[in-house]
Amino acid sequence: MKFNMKKAAAVVATLALGVLLVGCGSSGGSDSGGSGDKGYVGIAMPTKSAERWIEDGNNMVDQLEELGYKTDLQYGEDKVENQVAQIENMITKGVDTLVIASIDGSALTDVLEKAHNEDITVIAYDRLLMNSEYVDYYATFDNFSVGVLQASYIEDKLDLENGTGPFNIELFGGSPDDNNALINYNGVMSVFQPYFDSGQLVCQSGQTDFNQIATLRWDGSTAQARMDNLLSANYTDKELNAVLSPYDPISLGIISSLKGVGYGSADQPLPVITGQDATIAGVKSIIAGEQTQTIFKDTRVLAENTIDMIEALANDEEVPVNDTETYDNGVRVVPTYLATPVSVDKDNYVAELIDTGYYTEADLSN
Ligand code: BGC
Repeated sequence: MKFNMKKAAAVVATLALGVLLVGCGSSGGSDSGGSGDKGYVGIAMPTKSAERWIEDGNNMVDQLEELGYKTDLQYGEDKVENQVAQIENMITKGVDTLVIASIDGSALTDVLEKAHNEDITVIAYDRLLMNSEYVDYYATFDNFSVGVLQASYIEDKLDLENGTGPFNIELFGGSPDDNNALINYNGVMSVFQPYFDSGQLVCQSGQTDFNQIATLRWDGSTAQARMDNLLSANYTDKELNAVLSPYDPISLGIISSLKGVGYGSADQPLPVITGQDATIAGVKSIIAGEQTQTIFKDTRVLAENTIDMIEALANDEEVPVNDTETYDNGVRVVPTYLATPVSVDKDNYVAELIDTGYYTEADLSN
């Protein structure tokens, strides 16, 4: 890493203000004792309430420390103001690189400008940082393909390609302030639109626009309440055959709602229900025959891809990217490295999740 006057000044300021800064905006975070020979990386994660972000944070810290980086990992607990304070604190501490999985992708423009003014490289992690020219790189999974995999799973299960139907389906989306949610939705509709047009899929609520189906903060209980309403308004005398759910905790909320009105018996089986993240609770539900499918995003791979970027920057090498066209944040197209998501159900969860060492058998047993 090159010596940087501005950052050196910031570090001095940090030492002077050390007492004041202790605890500032650091909910549940940790400053690692890594050697720091290679540089200092601030990692801002959205929340510990979802397993995947805990895995993401741990994977990043473990791999970076092993390579000789110092790290500061913080969780914003889904509060934008926490995340802003945490990132400001990282800037003051003199980090060389910021890795940010945002809570609200559009809420960080000011703090990103501050980072830019301190010559800090910003990598958007999993979620794109929107409306800022100061986002240098983006490491994520192919978010369009997540939606395609979820919708194609329902397409296969209902055998739609062979002209079956009509089937009743309801759609749920992710958080409206998360760019991934919109891209996932576009992937979903790329598969479903022809079946809505042909009448093979019918959405009895009529709610198929993204803003009608979005779920703030990907919250399971919000989704459960919406499912309760959808069922009482549209399905008292009709069967629901499929639910496109974007995320395992949302799927579990939907399942609770469905069971509440009698689904889940031999006479009234649960609909096909998708998910995302292969959470332990989600996979257990798949094993139990309730949730049908999920999307596995191997957070070890995402951490590796992000660290390859950081290493390339540290060594003045070309940063590895494999997409320079898709991820327009409203101001610039951010050079991106896309990892591949995998569809998982009862038939392949052992091969994908246990044989790869992501989970142990014990993690998934009741
Ligand atoms: C991520 C998903 C995750 C969701 C909720 C999205 O931005 O891409 O993997 O399920 O946030 O945390």
